[in-house]
Amino acid sequence: MLIATHVAVGAVVAQNSPTAFWAFVLGFISHLLIDMIPHGDAHLYKEYKSGKKMKQALAKVSFDALAAVMLVAWIFAYVPNVNATIIAWGLVGSVLPDLLVGLCELYKHPWLEAFHRVHFWFHNYFVDRKKDMSLKHGFVMQAFLLAILVKVIV
Ligand SMILES: [Zn+2]
Repeated sequence: MLIATHVAVGAVVAQNSPTAFWAFVLGFISHLLIDMIPHGDAHLYKEYKSGKKMKQALAKVSFDALAAVMLVAWIFAYVPNVNATIIAWGLVGSVLPDLLVGLCELYKHPWLEAFHRVHFWFHNYFVDRKKDMSLKHGFVMQAFLLAILVKVIV
């Protein structure tokens, strides 16, 4: 999923969490669960790993990260009655899995590699058993999901 989608889900989860601890834990779990929904990017990681289309993959991740940062800024600047501590920890939990996957690309630590396998077990669960959608359809699906989540956040 887009980082922005994980941020939006993490914000909704955090808004419904009693403490920062639970916002973090539930945000982390939400990442793994929504990654299970086929969303068209399963081939991107494989292309990145094989060295094909590496620049395109990095460009997509960079724009996605920018959109996610803008969404976080919007939440803190414009959403009324935000408990900043709970929201912040929910957002950290919701994006941490992908950051750990990125760290695993740099450092081949056994714990990171174990988490990498767990992450992609969830991420590719239905894609490997059924079929992934196209990247374009995945993007459109997430745009609709983001619009609904932004409505829920406000
Ligand atoms: Zn992920």
